[in-house]
Amino acid sequence: PTPVKAAAKPGKVVVAGVAISSPDKILWPARDGHPPITKADLARYYEAASDRILAHVADRPTSIIRAPDGITGETFFQRHAMAGSNPRLKLIDVKARTPYVTAVDVGGLVAIGQSGGLELHPWGCKPGDPETPEQITFDLDPDEGLDFADVIAAAKVVKAKLESLGLTSFVKTTGGKGLHVVVPIRTDARSRVSWDQAKAFAKAVSELIRIDAPDRFTTTLAKKARGGKIFIDYLRNGRMATAVAPWSPRARPGAGIAFPLAWSQVKAGLDPSAFNLWNYPAMLKKADPWKDFRAAETSLRPALKKVGIA
Ligand code: ATP
Ligand code: MN
Ligand code: MN
Repeated sequence: PTPVKAAAKPGKVVVAGVAISSPDKILWPARDGHPPITKADLARYYEAASDRILAHVADRPTSIIRAPDGITGETFFQRHAMAGSNPRLKLIDVKARTPYVTAVDVGGLVAIGQSGGLELHPWGCKPGDPETPEQITFDLDPDEGLDFADVIAAAKVVKAKLESLGLTSFVKTTGGKGLHVVVPIRTDARSRVSWDQAKAFAKAVSELIRIDAPDRFTTTLAKKARGGKIFIDYLRNGRMATAVAPWSPRARPGAGIAFPLAWSQVKAGLDPSAFNLWNYPAMLKKADPWKDFRAAETSLRPALKKVGIA
């Protein structure tokens, strides 16, 4: 028998009550002296990080990037439950559309891993309430050729602009090339805003930033408009738009994790590839830099007025 079969046969791998099929299947190949990451490894990651992940994913419609044969195989976005979906996944109604899928507990997350779900992309909505935004995401996308230092500087510009509007922001790596600056907003009846307002606000703030420094920022999606600039992608804020979740792995070489940071970490020397599926145990031992994320929720209403949106 091949080593794979020998390893898989004796004890079935069960994580958080979910049987993992083909536990030795390689999802991320070995890299830089690190071993390959298998399906069993991914399932154990989801289990270990479940509290941190579920804080941002649970009960929000979530698009899942699946790579059943690993990152070198075919990948696809899954939004809806499919035939054979694990019953541990919850369906969430989004009005007049096929229900979306979400995880609400550790078993659901591990079931996503069991199906080869490598990335989690939730809506920015309140749990259980797809019509109510509970955060605004500024997705900073650098043109090719820019340094990560330029992305860091851009994130600080966004933070300062938000502060001038009375809003507290948090920052995370994406596991890719950029950073996300995220504002938690209140969702009580007096404070709640619509998706249209959330998106209009994100656009207005992005335009203000661009007007202040048009040589550094663009708000135009077209890649050709980027010319050495940072694209402030405000389009993450409409109804049905998604952003990668904090602590989500990425189906890219390097097995990076979209990692929540403290602003004090966002400085020269920050290396987003340092947060990955090989070294996460050390990160989980540290305090969550986003532990105050929900406590920092602010009403968006006064800020909407300040940027001229009723
Ligand atoms: P990077 O830092 O490399 O830009 P990213 O996660 O920000 O990583 P983007 O391409 O900027 O990647 O996309 C931002 C978000 O938009 C993603 O996290 C994802 O949730 C969503 N998104 C992007 N492309 C698609 C797509 N084709 N289908 C669905 N959602 C998408
Ligand atoms: Mn991006
Ligand atoms: Mn983007």
